[in-house]
Amino acid sequence: MSDVLIIGYGPAGVSASLYALRSGLEVLLVGKDSGALEKAHMIENYYGLEKPLAGSELFAVGKRQAEALGAKMVDDEITDLFFDGNFFVAKGLAGEYRARACIMATGSARKKQPLPRMAELEGHGVSYCAICDAFFYRGKDVAVLGAGEYALHECSELVNVAGSVTLLTNGAEPTAAFPENVKIDKRPLKALLGETQLTGAVFMDEAEVKLDGLFVALGSASAMDLARKAGAAFDNGSVVLDKGFMTTVPGLFAAGDCTGGTLQVAVAVGEGAIAGLAAIKYLRETRT
Ligand SMILES: Cc1cc2nc3c(=O)[nH]c(=O)nc-3n(C[C@H](O)[C@H](O)[C@H](O)COP(=O)(O)OP(=O)(O)OC[C@H]3O[C@@H](n4cnc5c(N)ncnc54)[C@H](O)[C@@H]3O)c2cc1C
Repeated sequence: MSDVLIIGYGPAGVSASLYALRSGLEVLLVGKDSGALEKAHMIENYYGLEKPLAGSELFAVGKRQAEALGAKMVDDEITDLFFDGNFFVAKGLAGEYRARACIMATGSARKKQPLPRMAELEGHGVSYCAICDAFFYRGKDVAVLGAGEYALHECSELVNVAGSVTLLTNGAEPTAAFPENVKIDKRPLKALLGETQLTGAVFMDEAEVKLDGLFVALGSASAMDLARKAGAAFDNGSVVLDKGFMTTVPGLFAAGDCTGGTLQVAVAVGEGAIAGLAAIKYLRETRT
């Protein structure tokens, strides 16, 4: 049993842990991988970095920092979360974890689509981060591949910048309320077009769509699934959070990319700090 369970040991989770650890709380961080930083080849827009730093290196430094302060770290994937009346219980593929407070910092769910040549065209028309890359598609025709809240988020980043935004659901039904200026095409996809640079996509019915960019936004923010399982309230598809990033379930917080805000390290670290401090306050006030 820990005081604080943090799901995700990326920038948001580690940042939250630093505050909780320094206030003397027992902290358990559970993560399944290195999250978004693994894909960020170089970070150069974060405070204090004199030279660009590989995302994977920034991730490793953060983990070491939390460990040095006494954080317990477990590699596991959480699949369920609930409050049993006394503690939060997180069930993972490898174990079960209990804590008096829980911070979800699972990042955005970005899954690769098994379409041929998708990896090859990454950085050449295929992107996994609208806020990082939308600027390069000013006035151009782009599509978002996905059907849920994450795809909606990526569309929202693109609609005011790109010339046109199409949602390609690849046979799935949309599960979020997409704005009218996003064209929805539900036909299953067959392949991407373009030799060295994406030029479009072809559907199973052989029809083609011209594209300058394709933003992959498959799956859903897993923290939102966990928040739903734990009984947190949602408004318009977003989990309701107070100023301390606490959900409507007392003691359950969310921070970082998973809150659906600006997908940047600086923001994740800031939200983690606020959630960490709020969790300390919550535990002090509810300690019996
Ligand atoms: C290609 C790319 C380039 C980027 N470039 C920049 C940049 O230049 N500058 C910048 O500031 N930001 C950049 N970003 C964004 C930045 O990486 C993220 O904003 C930041 O990493 C978010 O931190 P986080 O802690 O919220 O989530 P993440 O870093 O994604 O960490 C999430 C953590 O949650 C864990 N997790 C998820 N689900 C579960 C589960 N079910 N059970 C257990 N653990 C789970 C993961 O394993 C991981 O440890 C980029 C992102 C990408 C993809």
